[in-house]
Amino acid sequence: MSMNTQGRPTAAGDAGAAFRPKTFTGNRALDMEEPLLFEIGRLDVTGVDLDEPEAFEAELGTHARTAKIGLPGLSEPETMRHYVRLSRNNYAIDSGLYPLGSCTMKHNPRLNEKMARVPGFGDIHPLQPLSTVKGAVELISELGDWLMELTGTTAVAMSPKAGAHGEQCGMMAIKAAHIAAGRDPKIVLVPESAHGTNPATAALLGFKVVAIDAKEDGTVDLASVKKAIAENDGNIAAIMLTNPNTCGLFERDIMEIAAAIHAANAYFYCDGANFNAIVGKARPGDLGIDAMHINLHKTFSTPHGGGGPGSGPVVLSSRLAPFAPLPFVRKSEGGLELVETEAGLKDGEKPFGRMTAFHGQMGMFVRALTYMLSHGSDGLRLASEDAVLNANYVRVGLQDLMSLPFGERPCMHEVLFDDSFLKDTGVTTLDFAKAMIDEGYHPMTMYFPLVVHGAMLIEPTESESRASLDLFVATLRDLVMSAKRGETERFTGAPYLAPRRRLDETRAARSPVLTWSEPAPASVTPAAAE
Ligand SMILES: *Cc1c(COP(=O)(O)O)cnc(C)c1O
Repeated sequence: MSMNTQGRPTAAGDAGAAFRPKTFTGNRALDMEEPLLFEIGRLDVTGVDLDEPEAFEAELGTHARTAKIGLPGLSEPETMRHYVRLSRNNYAIDSGLYPLGSCTMKHNPRLNEKMARVPGFGDIHPLQPLSTVKGAVELISELGDWLMELTGTTAVAMSPKAGAHGEQCGMMAIKAAHIAAGRDPKIVLVPESAHGTNPATAALLGFKVVAIDAKEDGTVDLASVKKAIAENDGNIAAIMLTNPNTCGLFERDIMEIAAAIHAANAYFYCDGANFNAIVGKARPGDLGIDAMHINLHKTFSTPHGGGGPGSGPVVLSSRLAPFAPLPFVRKSEGGLELVETEAGLKDGEKPFGRMTAFHGQMGMFVRALTYMLSHGSDGLRLASEDAVLNANYVRVGLQDLMSLPFGERPCMHEVLFDDSFLKDTGVTTLDFAKAMIDEGYHPMTMYFPLVVHGAMLIEPTESESRASLDLFVATLRDLVMSAKRGETERFTGAPYLAPRRRLDETRAARSPVLTWSEPAPASVTPAAAE
């Protein structure tokens, strides 16, 4: 062991650490324990100095607050520390490879952040007079143009706030189109490999979901689609299909599926979460889709996490364009017009309503357009190609040790393994994922899609370097061999090195504690906590 001149160890970690101190604070060096704001905050403290307001008359009438609001306060430096410490407990794309398949955790370029902070974009308010935000409207319109160009569609709804919200928007446009044509079909076809939001969206809008089988090769069975159409003649509203699908495979029969759906007077909703695999290579509109959401946080590099801050614009074919929701930007002789109310409509415009109060997520719009303009059309195509290349690099690096449910053939932007390689090891998909945490990796998507047993869906994205992929592949190879050697404990007890071990996720989901009811004594001194 190397020692410094005072005879103390210089190496980090376990070198010579027969003695592991149980710390007084509960912290582990830079790994800080951080209580809740409600536990450390004080009611009489605030980080800002504001004068007491002069006597005023509340306009809230009987709704006026009668008791103190009771929000915990901290000084400014305490506030900084609280949130910085919490942020250090968060695994982020800026700290390591984040291989969540389907979710697409890709690098957020710093240029995007810089542009989003330009005051003309960052500091505007949705209620500002239109004459003062013309540039912002132009940016929304230009981003919409890029989305329509890249997808081969004719209209776009910019306001939905996430992919799932976009699904709702697209399906509401489809419903409106059926009603306008005097139809009232009740059924939506959803393949078994679909993301849960697809059947949830259909059900939310009152449709009955009919599941479509997958073929042996992991793609949607065209014969099943045709059979479902025949069995429910005249009662099909739409199909909701993801392409490339959630097994990481391109649906080769997509044009035949679209033709069959259109022949049945139904619409084709495409879940665009995996659009990042084909941008610049294929246009969904050319393949026959009528509506598709685009998760800007998956395909166009805006920040992704915790359900937001998301943005899920929806592109629509000419068949659905008239039903696009308010608000929208209309191009006219005099320039761009922002159509916000029914009063502003022209002939042929039949919006189904509106999805949100305002125009969408401006900060995300700026970031996404920055990404597009800084890449150009050739750069966007290259990003798709590299995303596919990287996934296949991982596939080839692991396919002799892990099991590919659909054979050793090329995948798109993500590679799907099942758990048969773990058979008889006593290690489950969940255990395997937890052991990855000890190695410093966020686990891949697990147990989704449901069409294979113990799914592990890996999506490295285009921005990982070869060195980073090599280390990731080597780490997984080491884990697999360890499991096969019978080193079960490395998995069943994992994670050993994370600040928390395994949580009772079932209990957390079934009986979530959503309110803070008993603030601990307002003190943070360790002595008082003992
Ligand atoms: C992420 C995802 C969604 C939902 O998108 P959000 O933006 O998270 O609401 C829907 N379908 C698929 C296949 C996805 O991967």
